[in-house]
Amino acid sequence: MKAIGVTRDGDGVELLDVERPEPGDGEALVRTLRVGVDGTDHEVIAGSHGGYPESAQHMVLGHEAVGVVEDGNGSGLDAGQVVVPTVRRKPNGETNDYFRRGEPDMAPDGEYVERGIVGEHGFMAEYFTSPADNLVPIPDHLAEYGMLVEPVSIAEKANDHAFSTREPFEWRPEAACVLGNGSLGLLTLWMLGREFDRTYCVGRRDRPDPTIDVMDELGATYVDSRETSVEELPDAHEAVDYVFEATGYAPHAVQTIHALAPNGVGALLGIPGPWEFEIDGGTLHKEIVLHNKCLIGTVNSHVKHFEAAVDTLDEMPQWLLDDLVTTVASPDNVEAAFEDDEGQIKAVVEFDTL
Ligand code: NAP
Ligand code: BGC
Ligand code: ZN
Repeated sequence: MKAIGVTRDGDGVELLDVERPEPGDGEALVRTLRVGVDGTDHEVIAGSHGGYPESAQHMVLGHEAVGVVEDGNGSGLDAGQVVVPTVRRKPNGETNDYFRRGEPDMAPDGEYVERGIVGEHGFMAEYFTSPADNLVPIPDHLAEYGMLVEPVSIAEKANDHAFSTREPFEWRPEAACVLGNGSLGLLTLWMLGREFDRTYCVGRRDRPDPTIDVMDELGATYVDSRETSVEELPDAHEAVDYVFEATGYAPHAVQTIHALAPNGVGALLGIPGPWEFEIDGGTLHKEIVLHNKCLIGTVNSHVKHFEAAVDTLDEMPQWLLDDLVTTVASPDNVEAAFEDDEGQIKAVVEFDTL
């Protein structure tokens, strides 16, 4: 069957011919409909994040998928059910407390593999298998955009963790800022627009640009980081109660502290490589302490976040989904989905339709 992946001695993304997988006990066989591409896939392809399955010469890419059950194989799922797979799996099939608790997203390195990212093949193939526990059913009418459930689930977890740090007191947030105008940033911008009076989104592009058009349409204020750095946000606009970092630009992690209003919280999601720069640690330390600020890191998501994401996706306006999915590539013409092109927001590889 056709699969899209990278090889140890190759140079970039390739169309591969691999064996169709056989479902094991408790696993279903899924016919893939669409698989999304995000910034992490680019980091995996560049070799700055993730790694190949042990002793494999190739890795099938893809962790944002939607498919339809081809063979339930006694797993409890019926053929024809549309499903979205979660990303983390047990390392070498061996369970641990994080998986037992249903919280694999909280597992440290070595206690998980991630399909299409760390040590396990992904979903970018005509078929994939998965334990039924890791397949979240979604309604048929969401199938076309079902590959967005995974990135939305990432934002669900981040927001949940960040907001729960503010639960011990009466927090009345009004303004939020998303750092990054990639697909994760823009999906989150819409989500935050439902809860915050004012939203900002930081990018580094000139108009006209499709991501800035989405910000305008959402009523968010565009902040160009080449003119206004993140730490200048309070002077240029206002200090914000929540920062959601989705750039992977390491200085943003510390600049976030200055962008926050007293009692604010920042969630860091980017995955940069090593990056040295100078900071005034004393001022940062004091700023966090004297203003009750909080900075959290958050990665991955579990079934509960996927279920919340299904509801969120169902509420997203059609124009937003249509504007975000800028590229639908076929496996035979897959380069189109991996181009570094400012016209592209979310690219997907389409294997089949419902
Ligand atoms: P993406 O498509 O690469 O988006 C990143 C965006 O940030 C790009 O639009 C980029 O602008 C912008 N950006 C980068 N540096 C900037 C700067 N200095 N000022 C202003 N804008 C800047 O990636 P994504 O898929 O949205 O994901 C965002 C990050 O989150 C990635 O690092 C990804 O690996 C990470 N991520 C983490 C998780 C998690 O579980 N923690 C989940 C998903 C993604 P240009 O395009 O103009 O360069
Ligand atoms: C994926 C997460 C994953 C993270 C780190 C993200 O792009 O969406 O599921 O945990 O990368 O590898
Ligand atoms: Zn991702």
